[in-house]
Amino acid sequence: MRASPISPTVDFSAEGVQHGFLRLPYSRDDSAWGSVMIPVTVVKNGEGPTALLTGGNHGDEYEGPIALFDLARTLKAEDVSGCVIIVPAMNYPAFLAGTRTSPIDKGNMNRSFPGAPDGTVTPKIADYFQRTLLPLADIVLDFHSGGKTLDFLPFCAAHILSDKAQEAKSFDLVSAFGAPWSMKMLEIDAVGMYDTVAEEMGKVFITTELGGGGTATAKSAGIAKTGVSNVLKAAGILKGSVEATDTTWLDMPDGNCFSFAEDGGLIEPLYDLGDRVKNGDVVARIYPVGRTGVAPLEVKAKMDGILAARHFPGLVKSGDCVSVVADIVD
Ligand SMILES: [Zn+2]
Repeated sequence: MRASPISPTVDFSAEGVQHGFLRLPYSRDDSAWGSVMIPVTVVKNGEGPTALLTGGNHGDEYEGPIALFDLARTLKAEDVSGCVIIVPAMNYPAFLAGTRTSPIDKGNMNRSFPGAPDGTVTPKIADYFQRTLLPLADIVLDFHSGGKTLDFLPFCAAHILSDKAQEAKSFDLVSAFGAPWSMKMLEIDAVGMYDTVAEEMGKVFITTELGGGGTATAKSAGIAKTGVSNVLKAAGILKGSVEATDTTWLDMPDGNCFSFAEDGGLIEPLYDLGDRVKNGDVVARIYPVGRTGVAPLEVKAKMDGILAARHFPGLVKSGDCVSVVADIVD
């Protein structure tokens, strides 16, 4: 396979703190020989594990970028045993545009793996993570939130894996993150995800959903900042003990956790995040908006549990994810 067109302005093997860029040539109307300059920080000190920390995989999710821009400016080499690689905004063009996908090629970073060095901008970035950054890492934390269209209970998550030792290490790191909720996460479609390729490489991979609606709150940003610090402490990269927090474990046992809209309209939520729901409960109504006097469509929960995620905007389209119900694990 051809070499990646991305050239880093930092040296991943050098000791100390470096702030630089992953420079990706991108020739366009307003910049003939221009580049996409993706900010990166590397903090390395002696022997120890390497953590790869990313936010902005989707460009409209803000807790990760907040925690990671903050960590990048404050982390000192003497605090670290090993290496921390920080990319606060992985899909940087999407992050600058405030959109889930890239405005350049409409690429959804988390459906673009393993990427391609001869693809458009998004697959080129994915390929650089696939072949250059992921192989350097022992642990990987990729921040997500609901973006403009979903809102989540704040949770850290890992996936059920066939390698049970790798799975146990991942769930230990989820516990260490210390979000109010911790999730055994099921994906609607895991193909093309950063998560999937990292796990296939044997990395200890954790992710988050820390809120949504296309913004962050003081609380959700605080959870992200404490969480990343806890993860680095649990990995032995930062000194100090993990800040003890109560977390409630949740499970997404099968596809019945998801409910999708079968028509568009005005959504009326009947439950809020964290509320308990029963199988068959109407979690939301969708009113047709073309005329009055028409009964709304009912969207029902398909399992018992608590409402872990919901559609965010007030209008919904056919096929949108309306709700996610999760089991409380005792
Ligand atoms: Zn996301």
